[in-house]
Amino acid sequence: MSEDCIFCQIVNGEIPARTVYEDDDVLAFLDANPLAPGHTLVIPKEHRETLDEVPPEPGEMMFAAIHYLTPIVEDVVDADATNIGFNNGEAAGQEVPHVHGHIIPRFEGDGGQPIHAVAG
Ligand code: IMP
Repeated sequence: MSEDCIFCQIVNGEIPARTVYEDDDVLAFLDANPLAPGHTLVIPKEHRETLDEVPPEPGEMMFAAIHYLTPIVEDVVDADATNIGFNNGEAAGQEVPHVHGHIIPRFEGDGGQPIHAVAG
């Protein structure tokens, strides 16, 4: 745990979150500033800043949770599709330095950008 990490504080229950999934290794909760209804963040519970620092097992558990949750999130908000992505490192736009995957529901005609648009 990193004491000044907001996601660690969420894991420890010090900051409230709208949890959608939890197991021994992984927590998923709704994004506080959602880009779309149902925007969900999936994190390893153990503090790691970027993906290369995550050991294989919790990494696999995180991706398994993303795989499991994506169709459920789509179903709950009646989405047509989903963007799934990581801002991995500060230069890539990562604002919270605790690894997290975004599950962002998408809707026909919502006017949003595909994920590759950010890489120009
Ligand atoms: P990043 O740019 O990939 O690091 O995304 C960080 C995400 O965390 C943003 O989408 C924020 O809205 C979200 N976020 C920041 N603080 C909180 C919080 O306390 N609860 C839930 N989501 C948060």
